[in-house]
Amino acid sequence: MTWVHAFHIVFYVCALLICGTCFFYTLFRKRVQRLQNKLYILMLSIVTLNSVCDIIAAVAENYSLVSNSAFLVVGISNFLYFTVHALLAPSLLFYVCCVNGMYTRLSIRRRIIYLLPCFVTIFFTLTNPLMHWVYYYDENRAFQRNWAEMFFYVVAAVYLVGSVVYLLWFWNAITRRRRIALTGAFVIVISSVMLQLLFIDVKSELLGEAMGLLFLLLIVENEDDRLDADTNTYNRKGFLLDIRNFIMTKQTFHVFVINVVNVDIVRRLTGSSSIQALARLVATYFRTLVPPYQIYHTSYSTFALLYTGDKKGADALAKKLEQRFNESWSCLDISIMLNAVILYASVPDELKTPDEILLMLDSPFPKSSAGKVLHGSSLNYLIRRADVERALHTGIAEHRFEVYYQPIYRMENLSLHGAEALLRLKDPDLGFIPPDEFIPVAEQIGIIDVIGNFVLHEVCQFLQSGIPQEKGMSCIHVNLSVIQCMQPGFTERILSLIDSYGLSHSLINFEITETLTASDYQTLAGVVSTLQAEGFHFSMDDYGTGFSNMQSIFELSFDVIKIDKSILWGAEAGSTGKAILENSARMIRQIGKQIVVEGVETEAQIEMLKRIGVDYLQGYYFSKPIPREMLISFLS
Ligand code: C2E
Ligand code: CA
Ligand code: CA
Repeated sequence: MTWVHAFHIVFYVCALLICGTCFFYTLFRKRVQRLQNKLYILMLSIVTLNSVCDIIAAVAENYSLVSNSAFLVVGISNFLYFTVHALLAPSLLFYVCCVNGMYTRLSIRRRIIYLLPCFVTIFFTLTNPLMHWVYYYDENRAFQRNWAEMFFYVVAAVYLVGSVVYLLWFWNAITRRRRIALTGAFVIVISSVMLQLLFIDVKSELLGEAMGLLFLLLIVENEDDRLDADTNTYNRKGFLLDIRNFIMTKQTFHVFVINVVNVDIVRRLTGSSSIQALARLVATYFRTLVPPYQIYHTSYSTFALLYTGDKKGADALAKKLEQRFNESWSCLDISIMLNAVILYASVPDELKTPDEILLMLDSPFPKSSAGKVLHGSSLNYLIRRADVERALHTGIAEHRFEVYYQPIYRMENLSLHGAEALLRLKDPDLGFIPPDEFIPVAEQIGIIDVIGNFVLHEVCQFLQSGIPQEKGMSCIHVNLSVIQCMQPGFTERILSLIDSYGLSHSLINFEITETLTASDYQTLAGVVSTLQAEGFHFSMDDYGTGFSNMQSIFELSFDVIKIDKSILWGAEAGSTGKAILENSARMIRQIGKQIVVEGVETEAQIEMLKRIGVDYLQGYYFSKPIPREMLISFLS
């Protein structure tokens, strides 16, 4: 064998080894459902087959002068090489279109037009044994190029330019990693082709193509960061990337979010391994409805599906899902009902931005939605949720929050005891937004501490003015969100804030509504006891509304318990309610805590509470929450 042939073979073998590795990995991972994956495998097969053809041709060429069969082998190898290689460049073009999401927007006509040059080159290669337009063998059986080979290069160059154009055109529709991988692959392939054009014996083209494919495998085809290992579906990140891409490439689609609301109960009944098995079972069912790469397991209890068919199909899909979740699932020999809320929206008709779609995953849905399909106008709460979020941000930036005060009275002589600070937000577009609505949103988007600090500053300023004390108030109640208290460094921050006003700590009474799981008690108990040691008082808010009030009474040493207005109002409705109120009050007195009852609206309620024996009263009977200046004149 001549050294030149040996030198060529080294390049081909390297290319073959790289392709083999890529093949092994691709098939091993079994992620081959998307057109994108299929095109990748096609390109890989082309380069592999080309490498094999080139190796065989390079070996056989050594004997082609002396052996007819060796010459025939050379001929067949080259024929195969050219025929197959013609498919590589168009595959790359379509591959790029798949990665950036453009492919589905290419009309059938356009796809065919894009393939035409490729068909012509294949026509040339198929007819070459007769016409010799592409290449031929001279009298010494040496390979010679002919005029049509130039056409091959031009066509390949056009496809390559087209791929680069599509890449740049929808540059923002793909992630940074993918941009880098695709750009890298282009640079490698183009430089290897140039190198081979300049130095005919440096057979770098196939090697460059193989390396480009390796690059794509490692970064584009490898989706480990987007996968949910448990269910072999995609994860939240995959969902976000896909909806972004769909929106940027202006596709219309439908999003389904299936939220299993009783997942915690199911887990307690059946154990966590069965939850995983159930999730896999549900994912398998979804695979019968939509392509496997449009199923997302976005959280412990939530799945999302993307459906790209028409509205009618989407409605039918919603029906099917609703029916299926009204039946039981059998898993590990047990039969379980999964109680699901199904949200369904069309993009861009109903929801437009990725943020709006993410709200479908993240916003708590209206109570009593379980077992229902929410779509159309029942999804308005999502828009409202987005509006409230926006109102919170602009409210902070434009100082639209205001603190109101609602006085609290002693039962004894009905004399003034203090006031509760209650936050107000008025938005120019949405009008008055109740705190019950915006506080949970502020907690969720992580700005509750900004809001909490604002309230505290206002209260401290009020107390620093000395007016509350003058009017006979012994304290101001400030609501604290548990989320706020749990943040690291909370006690230090709150102490330095209050101490910057030089106030006596006993003037502030913090109200907390417990919404905790048992594991969080320790942190909260630490916060409460540290601040109590500093002289602050603590009230348990909304007693009687939660279901584990008892535990927080045990674990957190409150000074005051505020009985919720619903308990008071319930006591007027009948003897059961009355017994609950009386016994709650008795129990709280027995453990030595003080009692506030809120929601007092009538004189009759005051009479009843006097008989039962409570310490403080708060409610519309005395005053609604009012602005600071109004409170001052009200108390005068
Ligand atoms: P909450 O702490 O239980 O506050 C008592 C709520 O009951 C207030 O509603 C008050 O206006 C209302 N209320 C008081 N007396 C009566 C009455 O006689 N009749 C009726 N119908 N209602 C009465 P508001 O101000 O809308 O506050 C709702 C909730 O928002 C509060 O419940 C509290 O959980 C939260 N919140 C308000 N301000 C803040 C704050 O600054 N920080 C935090 N973290 N939460 C706050
Ligand atoms: Ca309160
Ligand atoms: Ca309350």
